[in-house]
Amino acid sequence: MPRTADDLRTALRRIDGRGYKAYRDVAGAWVAHEYALHVDRVQGDPFAAPSYVRVRVGAHVARIPPELHEGPVRRIALEDHLARRVREAIRRAVKGHRGTGKSGAVQVDAGGQEVLERTAVRIEPEWVEMRLQVGLPAAGRRVLAREAEQILCHELPDVARRAFRLDEDARRTAREVVECVENQEAIREQLPARGLVAFVADGAVLPRRSGVDDRPLSGRDVVPFRSPDALRVELEVPNPIPDPEGGEPRATVTGLGVREGVTLIVGGGYHGKSTLLRAIERGVHPHVPGDGREYVVSRGDLVKIRAEDGRRVERVDIGAFIGELPHGRRTDAFTSDDASGSTSQAANIVEALEVGTSGLLLDEDTSATNFMVRDARMQALVASDREPITPFLDRIHELHDALGVSTVLVMGGVGDYFDVADTVIRMDEYRPEDVTAEAKRIAREHGSRRSVETDRPLAAPRGRIPVASSLDPSRGRREVKIDARDLHQIGFGTHDIDLRGVEQLVDRSQTRAIGHALHLGASRFMDGRRTVREVVDAIDAAIDEGGLEVLDPFRRGEGHPGNFARPRRHEIAAALNRLRSVLVERETG
Ligand code: ADP
Ligand code: MG
Repeated sequence: MPRTADDLRTALRRIDGRGYKAYRDVAGAWVAHEYALHVDRVQGDPFAAPSYVRVRVGAHVARIPPELHEGPVRRIALEDHLARRVREAIRRAVKGHRGTGKSGAVQVDAGGQEVLERTAVRIEPEWVEMRLQVGLPAAGRRVLAREAEQILCHELPDVARRAFRLDEDARRTAREVVECVENQEAIREQLPARGLVAFVADGAVLPRRSGVDDRPLSGRDVVPFRSPDALRVELEVPNPIPDPEGGEPRATVTGLGVREGVTLIVGGGYHGKSTLLRAIERGVHPHVPGDGREYVVSRGDLVKIRAEDGRRVERVDIGAFIGELPHGRRTDAFTSDDASGSTSQAANIVEALEVGTSGLLLDEDTSATNFMVRDARMQALVASDREPITPFLDRIHELHDALGVSTVLVMGGVGDYFDVADTVIRMDEYRPEDVTAEAKRIAREHGSRRSVETDRPLAAPRGRIPVASSLDPSRGRREVKIDARDLHQIGFGTHDIDLRGVEQLVDRSQTRAIGHALHLGASRFMDGRRTVREVVDAIDAAIDEGGLEVLDPFRRGEGHPGNFARPRRHEIAAALNRLRSVLVERETG
């Protein structure tokens, strides 16, 4: 016989006032009429990381229309949406802190502006479940049973009811969310066939409130995006989009189609260049309706590239960009514990090619000048045999011609790029214009008088094979000690992985997932044969197959998997490449 909610009350009353460890008695499953409560992990003391608790509700109680979670796109969108509803319900139905330390805190790992696959809510045909963290309440180190009963037996079931029982209004909203995300994924799928790397819808709101607030900027000063006529495309979406002005819903969206090849974004300072690029960077993930960028959609494999001096680089062939260094130092297997601006930027590109990408995104604001250009005067003063760098300018088109990799580049300061651009977009007071013809005419009339500096053709990088034993997640007596210190830092064993240069990470639970993905990769897939790319492919396939739950090394059965959101393979590889202990072997042949 399963234990009931009444049994839970009795068990709690029995341990009232006892030492905190007595909470172990409430571990396990407790079944009530409309829900089941699972206490999967009990914290050791009131100050430790809160306990893991799940609440599962039967589908007949939740009454979520099945078509809202049919197929992976809809399921991910609805789970993400329900996690937000859980967060809102906690705000309304949970009293909050009561007692010592984290007593009474109830949390769910819901997302920000992006819609991500995450573990916070899980929908199955027969049930829906929320995964929470709960600070079991204490006075000092004594059990506060009444408060615990209030939380576990009243507040959490109330949260589940509020979040999962969808009334008519809530169903309509859920449907809008799911359909909007489905539209975004449908647009993403159309991009390659249309020869586009990204799409920026007319009417999109690109600027954010601030550098630390990712919500859309609002107010009279916001200029909604409007595509230039010559670059406008119209894409079909499966779900008609409601017209904000009250007209007929539309089955298509119009906007800027960012084409394959080399796209240059120029314009005066402060005219919105970087804001446009950042929206494209983030467009690899879907966004929530109301974000302003919900119809800014990029190919899922675009990679932002920046200079990142100080990073570690392990045996990366940056020879296409950087030739022989002083003291005869070779660059076909470049290793450094403290890379420079240009060598780090070159390594970032080669590593992105290694994982596989169809497009690079660069901003002059975060690039190394000497990596980007060498003009005619500098070529005259510093002979090319004294300069190891082949500027990106001389490789950018070859990247597309030889490897099929497009580039979108923000460059307000250097006109030398006019020669190699296929499309030039000028931002003028946040309005894009197509100035390709004009830029080409200027390039013809004012020759740059510089000479092209490539010596050998660009080739796809050879694989590097990571050495499993160089990833050690242990620290002290803990066999696995991995945590996400913040969005851009992973504690991995005794190492810190610095991800500040990895700009497309959007959620700390992705960061946490990456830490564990590295461990999974090292323990299961780094076999001395698989390359970095094959390892991240294998991790991706494992997540596709078993869900993000596969990342928890201690998971047993159906327990709370921890708070994970899905990272892209590019960010997993980026973390691997920045772990300072990592060693690789070069693929031969
Ligand atoms: P640039 O890279 O051209 O120098 P930014 O993209 O950094 O310019 O934008 C400069 C400022 O303008 C930022 O504060 C940004 O939030 C704001 N901004 C960008 N786009 C818009 C827009 N469409 N409407 C209103 N403000 C915007
Ligand atoms: Mg800028």
